[in-house]
Formats: sequence, C-alpha cells, structure tokens
Amino acid sequence: MNYPIARRAATLSPSLTLAIDSKAKQMKADGLDVVGFGAGEPDFDTPQHIKDAAVKALADGFTKYTPSSGILELRQAIADKFQRENGLTYKPSQIIVSCGGKHSCFNVILSTCQEGDEVIIPAPYWLSYPEMVKLAGAKSVILSTSDRTEFKVTPEQLRGAITAKTRLFVLNSPSNPTGTVYTPDEIRILGDICVEKGVLIMSDEIYEHLLYDGAKHRSVASFSPAHLEHTIIVHGFAKAWSMTGWRLGFLAAPEPVAKAIDAVQSHSTSNPTSFAQKGAVAALTGSQEHLPRWLAEYDRRRTYAWQRLNTMPGVSCVSSKGAFYLFPNVSGTGLGSAEFCSRLLEQEKVAAVPGIAFGADDYIRISYATGLANIEKGLDRMDRFVRSLR
Ligand SMILES: *Cc1c(COP(=O)(O)O)cnc(C)c1O
Repeated sequence: MNYPIARRAATLSPSLTLAIDSKAKQMKADGLDVVGFGAGEPDFDTPQHIKDAAVKALADGFTKYTPSSGILELRQAIADKFQRENGLTYKPSQIIVSCGGKHSCFNVILSTCQEGDEVIIPAPYWLSYPEMVKLAGAKSVILSTSDRTEFKVTPEQLRGAITAKTRLFVLNSPSNPTGTVYTPDEIRILGDICVEKGVLIMSDEIYEHLLYDGAKHRSVASFSPAHLEHTIIVHGFAKAWSMTGWRLGFLAAPEPVAKAIDAVQSHSTSNPTSFAQKGAVAALTGSQEHLPRWLAEYDRRRTYAWQRLNTMPGVSCVSSKGAFYLFPNVSGTGLGSAEFCSRLLEQEKVAAVPGIAFGADDYIRISYATGLANIEKGLDRMDRFVRSLR
C-alpha cells in the first residue's frame, strides 16, 4: 500500500531531544550505566498539594468536558498570577489553557501564521518553534547568535530581519537551550521595535521563575499598553511546578487572537484534562515554598557544572542565569555537535543533546535537572572523553 503522507508531516523532523532521552532510557533499561544530561524536565516530583487537588477532583467526579479554553476558576487564577507577578491586567477571556506550553505555542503559530508569512526566531532556539512554523505553512527567519554575546539577539539584527511579511517574533527568556536571560532594558528595546513595526511577539516565559545570580525576569508585555497589545505570552506548569506529564500550559493574548486560538483548540483537543486543571488551580493558589528549595539545588548544580566544563580542553561555557541548561561550546574539540554527542554516548554512556538540533552546531546542551552525584559522574566521563580526543 502506498500510504498517503502529507507534505506537512513528511517534512517534519521528529523532536531530537525526545529521541535522545528515549535512547538513553532504553540503554538504562538494557542494564547500561547511562548518565542523562538530555532531559528537558525537572527531576523533582510534583508538589503534594497539587496532586491532592487533582485526586480530589477525580474522586468528586470532576471528569467531564469543560469549556475548551479551560475552567473559569483556572483562567481567573492565571489572570490573577499575571496581575500579581507581572503587573499585567488580563480578563479571563484572554486566557487559554492548553495541553502543555508546547501546545500553546502551536496554537499561537497556527492561529496567526499562514503561507507566505515569516516568523523571526533567534538561534539557538527551542527546537519545536521552526517545525511549528513549517506546519503552519509559514517560513522561519533565523537570527544567529553566539556565546560571544551570551546568545542574545541585537536590536539591529531584529530590525534588519523585519519585512512586510513578518507576523511573529519569538522571544524566549530565560532560554531553552542556552539559559540566557535578557535584561529588562534589552527586552524593552526589542519590544519597542516590534511595536513600531506592528509585529506580534510570542513571548515564551515558561522559565520565568528559574533565575540565578540575582537575574530579573520582566515580561515584554509589561512596558506599555502598546507592548501589551503586541504580545502573546505562552507559559505552562511543566517547569516551575514540575508537571511535565500533566500536559497543561496556558497563554494570554489580545482578545481577537485569544478568540481565534480558542476556535482552533475547540476543534482539535477541546479542553485540557478536567481534573488536571483543578491541580493547576492548586499550583497557582497554593504554597510556592517548593520553589526556593528547587532553585537552591539547581543553582548548586549549575555552578558546579559550569566550573567543571570550563576546565575541559576544547570546551568553554558562558555562565547562564536561567532555566536548567548550560550550553558549552565544544568546537575546540574538532567535532561537530552530532558526532560529539553520539560518540560521548557510545564511549562514555553520557547523553547530551547536540546543538545542531537548536540551530547551533558548535555547542551541546547539558541539562542539570538531575542530581549532583549524577552530574559529577557524567562530567568526569565527559572530561575523560574530551581528553581522549587530543
Ligand atoms: C518545556 C518548554 C515548553 C513547554 O513544555 P510543555 O511540557 O509542553 O508544557 C515551552 N517552551 C520551552 C522553551 C520549553 O523548554
């Protein structure tokens, strides 16, 4: 049978981070002692009060369809979060709860972009953005950055890339894969340009709570009413509440955009899981005391890993102030990132993600969302590996 595979599916690259993670897990299951630096998820469990709220909802029979954009109680709690933490005023009708932050990004791109449109994406980028743009039939315009500028895109780069076809500028601070955090001033200037040129910003703020070295997060939407009107914020529960498997994200958008996104969602997934939404209400309204503990632990690992990486021959790593990733430059080893990672996995049983997946072949991504003992072991092995290349 000659199976029909649509061009939009055939031209997609499956997520390399998920593939590496599952290969490492399979090697572990086969009894091999693998150290995984590939994970894009916290190693902590979801806080108990969040689980309890979902269990109670399930026991209470909260098991039916909800409004496709999510229950009002949760959308109100999200609007309250934006007011309290970001100084942003949204009505619940501007909030859409989706099946993960990834789904929120997908909904935004699918609802605002089509054939002939351009989407500006700074590289290194989260690998799903360009694939989503492809699915929408639009074209990605990639802005390259490097460790020399802490992976930050400049105002000149952004200005030079905007054309009459530009629909979206994708901003992700703190960043996956680099951990880069733009300063409030830098964010404001990029926002000013988009406002001036009439370009919508998709601001992925899912790592806003994971900050170190006194770094501050400031949403691009918060600088003026015009900035607010030009911004869609995407966010989710996966990272700061460790709810990756729950599949719950959310977005806040100008009213007409929110309406369009709700229509798309109503014909695809409908509502996100009913009882999971009750857990999310508890995540936002309940205790946040887990967060300082997690941050202290991440920070310890970050500092250790950063120092170790910089002692390895052929490797250099700029410090990162957010998320749970380091993005060391391995070009001094003479290997491209894909070969580096596949030999590191084979030779030393250490899984890391090649930078080429994020549009930056000189680097690899190290996730420190794993215990310090594991990090020590993995970096000992990586050190041995790069020395073996000399
Ligand atoms: C993890 C992540 C998301 C969302 O993940 P979900 O599991 O779908 O909630 C969105 N953007 C970035 C940059 C991420 O790293």
